[in-house]
Amino acid sequence: MSLPDLEGRCAVITGASRGIGASLAEHFAARGLSLGLCSRGAPALAASQRVVSARLDVTDERAFEAFADSVVARFGAIDLWINNAGVLEPIAPVRDVSAADFREHIDINLTGLFLGTRTFVRHLRARGGQGVLINVSSGAAWKPYEGWAAYCAGKAGVERFTEVVAAEEEASGLRAYSIAPGVVDTAMQELIRGCGPDRFPEADRFREMSANQSFNTGEFVAHHFLAIAFDPQARPDAVAVALPDEKN
Ligand code: NAP
Repeated sequence: MSLPDLEGRCAVITGASRGIGASLAEHFAARGLSLGLCSRGAPALAASQRVVSARLDVTDERAFEAFADSVVARFGAIDLWINNAGVLEPIAPVRDVSAADFREHIDINLTGLFLGTRTFVRHLRARGGQGVLINVSSGAAWKPYEGWAAYCAGKAGVERFTEVVAAEEEASGLRAYSIAPGVVDTAMQELIRGCGPDRFPEADRFREMSANQSFNTGEFVAHHFLAIAFDPQARPDAVAVALPDEKN
């Protein structure tokens, strides 16, 4: 993979306070990209000449759009938009999940991602030209995990949603992907490892991964995301993409 000079390109990353989003932010900043970062807690990089940094909830339509406007006002054009913000909970069998918890999950993992996607698509149509959308998916989009009904349903939804918008906007310059990053050792993984078999029967497999340190690193994910967005040789054929295992 050979990346072009990325100085002056602009990327938006949601869910940038920690985990994969924070790694993307740090790696992209080191490559010279200008960044728009948001999360409910403080994003990993503070506001600076090259960074617009905002605390917001991706389910808050007005705050999200105002943030995007401020990124455009500062940097002119957004080249890459990554809907990374996501939650795993509720973790429990369906019979024990409350309607309120299920709704909250779908509101963040699907409606928040819809809002980010719509904002980016409208921006692209207004400015013309090319843009890349990455919606962060998961292996849970394809595999049913007991205890993760909301997460599996939401991530499967992310994939089909992204396929629809990719088809709708192809002619107007959008390349859209839903990308499963592989297993990355973040707060989400700590949460998984802390689950008993009553809530999540497969937790042992993830504890084993931790013992073997067989994770993808955030830097590996960041490198692949940049290649998919900016290296013409690395363009995937399909909308739905799974990153390989780094340690294989
Ligand atoms: P994480 O460490 O828990 O980080 C999640 C990020 O999303 C945080 O920055 C969090 O920030 C943000 N977020 C959550 N709810 C939000 C909301 N309502 N509004 C704005 N930001 C919100 O998890 P991660 O592992 O980095 O996960 C990142 C993405 O990768 C998620 O979409 C996840 O499903 C996906 N993924 C992760 C793995 C893995 O192994 N780690 C595997 C497959 C897919 P605040 O709490 O400060 O808002």
